[in-house]
Amino acid sequence: MGTRDEPDASVVVAGLGPVGGVLAALLGARGVPTVVVEPNERPYPKPRAAVLDVEAIRILAALPGMPPLEGWAAPLARNGAVGPDRQPLIMIDQTARAFGLPQVVRIDQPVLEEGLRTVIAGTGCVEVLAGRSVRTVEPDGERVIAVLDDGRRLTARWLVGCDGAASTVRAAAGIDFPGRTFAQPWLVVDAAARSDTGGSCGVGGTTDGAAAFAFVLDPARPAVAMSQRDRWRWEWMVLPGEDPETLTRPEVVRSLVAAWADPAALEIQRAAVFTFHARMADRWRAGRILLAGDAAHAIPPFAGLGLSMGIRDVGALAWRLADVTGGASGPELLDGYERERRADVRRTTAMALGIGRLVQTRNRAASGLIRGLARTAAAVPGLRMRLGSRPVPPRRLPRSLAGPLPQAGRVLPNPRVSVAGGAPVRLDEVIGYRWAYIGHRCDPRTVTDTIPHDAVVLALLYPDPAPGCLSISDLDGLLNGTPGTVTAVRPDRFLHGVLK
Ligand SMILES: Cc1cc2nc3c(=O)[nH]c(=O)nc-3n(C[C@H](O)[C@H](O)[C@H](O)COP(=O)(O)OP(=O)(O)OC[C@H]3O[C@@H](n4cnc5c(N)ncnc54)[C@H](O)[C@@H]3O)c2cc1C
Repeated sequence: MGTRDEPDASVVVAGLGPVGGVLAALLGARGVPTVVVEPNERPYPKPRAAVLDVEAIRILAALPGMPPLEGWAAPLARNGAVGPDRQPLIMIDQTARAFGLPQVVRIDQPVLEEGLRTVIAGTGCVEVLAGRSVRTVEPDGERVIAVLDDGRRLTARWLVGCDGAASTVRAAAGIDFPGRTFAQPWLVVDAAARSDTGGSCGVGGTTDGAAAFAFVLDPARPAVAMSQRDRWRWEWMVLPGEDPETLTRPEVVRSLVAAWADPAALEIQRAAVFTFHARMADRWRAGRILLAGDAAHAIPPFAGLGLSMGIRDVGALAWRLADVTGGASGPELLDGYERERRADVRRTTAMALGIGRLVQTRNRAASGLIRGLARTAAAVPGLRMRLGSRPVPPRRLPRSLAGPLPQAGRVLPNPRVSVAGGAPVRLDEVIGYRWAYIGHRCDPRTVTDTIPHDAVVLALLYPDPAPGCLSISDLDGLLNGTPGTVTAVRPDRFLHGVLK
């Protein structure tokens, strides 16, 4: 237990789901003493989130000690829409990469969570209290106290509720969770082949076992289908008058699955009915208590971005907490967290609701129109190719949030670089989750004296900098800058701006 002077930790994280896991790993990468409280000894074993976007992948891939991407993710090679007969209306071959990474990957949430636990164990400054939960939180002047279910009182400078949509921390902090809960239930089914199907498993004409995703535009029963080698995920709309509980019975699940695959060859791993929510906490911070992930927002699943948004949250939060607890900044730095994230979550929630409206269309005429539009788009020469081969433009922070410096809010590219003439590596590997100062033909320390002591100091096209500064060459030609200027980069890869 902490003393009056020394708290138990700089940060207590409530919840070791994927968002709490990434937060703990990022704090650990910055050496922030952290305690994570989690009721379950092991990750929830059944698949939940199925896809991640490139921004989330980039944050995860750069974690020191994270297993290689192939170990926990597979690129989503095809995506699009199929008709009631399951034939493709439009399927896009997704070949684009950004930052040296696939645009979207298929994941198994439990595999990802296991990987994060390994990363956390390797940090040396994160302690996990498994089998315990946070019962309530109490402000205590310059600290916050997490009261656990065994009566223990953990003190910390900051506490982050990553305890999911039904967040105890959010409720204890008196934060409302306004929004909508939709009455429409969906059945979600995860299945794995009992034996290897030899690549025959696939949506939208995929036969090579690569991960594929399709909206099923069927007014009789809208659905979503995902396949990857020997695994499937289906989501079916529950129709008016159907009893959700009956739908999860094995014989009913098998009858739905039969349209896609031989049910006898499959093991049904999970069949559950869920309704979806579009909600956001009305404040993401109450004093020394912060919220992230599903505790801060519930996003409808149709855009497949629920978890990615949570990972973006902690990418934006962890460096601020590290800087504040390390004394480099005052607590006001944390005000930017909610401002930056709220706007992005609001936009994404609106997009997910829009996609949901299209996918859930049951009116035959409207559904026919949407299918016609998808077919027409597929027939436009070169469009499918262009859609699949061009990366989505990176998200930028608006100038009003990013600050006054030139280029603030842009995203740092991730070229292959050579450090001091060494073998090529990605720039992200050199930087880790730290501030970076990149001098263009100069040593950044000759331009600014505001560089934090644990920042990575790099000199581009400047062969012999003084000790403490690494000379790099950009093998892909993506790092442009005026000679004598310095690009200051936040640990989450948004540019703080250009200094001269
Ligand atoms: C059935 C289901 C299907 C889903 N499918 C998809 C999908 O296809 N795509 C997608 O993007 N997203 C999906 N999601 C959502 C996605 O899984 C979430 O966005 C993601 O899990 C959010 O992570 P989180 O860490 O914020 O919360 P959670 O994953 O909910 O983790 C919260 C953690 O907090 C712990 N906890 C709870 N109470 C306490 C407490 N009092 N003290 C300490 N710890 C506590 C829990 O044990 C848990 O480990 C699905 C979710 C569910 C439940």
